[in-house]
Amino acid sequence: MEPIYEGKAKRLFTTDDPNVLRMEYKDEATAFNAEKKANFENKGKLNTAITLALYRMLETKGVETHLVGQIDEINLLVKNVEILMVEVIVRNIAAGSFSNRMAVEEGTVFNQPIVEFSYKSDELGDPLINDDYAREMGLATPEECAELKEKALIVNDVMIDFFKQCGLKLVDFKIEFGRTKDGEAKIVLADEISPDTCRLWDIETGKKLDKDRFRQDLGDVMEGYEEVLKRVEKVIS
Ligand code: UDP
Repeated sequence: MEPIYEGKAKRLFTTDDPNVLRMEYKDEATAFNAEKKANFENKGKLNTAITLALYRMLETKGVETHLVGQIDEINLLVKNVEILMVEVIVRNIAAGSFSNRMAVEEGTVFNQPIVEFSYKSDELGDPLINDDYAREMGLATPEECAELKEKALIVNDVMIDFFKQCGLKLVDFKIEFGRTKDGEAKIVLADEISPDTCRLWDIETGKKLDKDRFRQDLGDVMEGYEEVLKRVEKVIS
């Protein structure tokens, strides 16, 4: 069917059902607003399997997602939602852009999670925004911002607990939300949750098992993702 969108890590296609899209996971990886690019064999498969497992786990905890089902190793069926142009980042431990911006040492544990919004715009490099920016830019209403924050903190609680069982620390993550196009216009979790979008460190050794292996040239990038999938599947089974 028709491709309707191509992003850095995924493609979206229409299906016979106008309410459902096919989401294909690519092997391509980008970092630093696509300045750094590479192809990793099996990344699409690994991220499909990890997102699928996490979405199913989150659904059992009452978190609604856009997931409809799986087609094959790199294709999921998802609800045709209207993606909110706000990326929601939750941080439990300082790393990445937070550490750089605030000069706080990576690994500093926060007393409470930090929730951050950024404007989903590759052109502008996903700038940090707040509720007022979101309102004035027509990205989300104040009520929606409150809902995004509340939902993101629930996702954080569920995922911290789940990843702990996997022997992993959830350092931070980025999620996106969509408005369903049915009459209800509910806000549901959309996009992906994978080592591309989460920082995950081994509880025992502190080893990074996420996209920082690519960003920081640590090597064995897919070995990290494979380790995450192996642990996720073990906890789920
Ligand atoms: N993240 C993401 N997409 C983005 C920006 C961030 O998935 O466009 C994820 C990133 O992988 C990390 C978290 O969100 O788990 C926080 O990222 P940060 O703001 O520290 O940015 P980065 O270090 O990636 O520039």
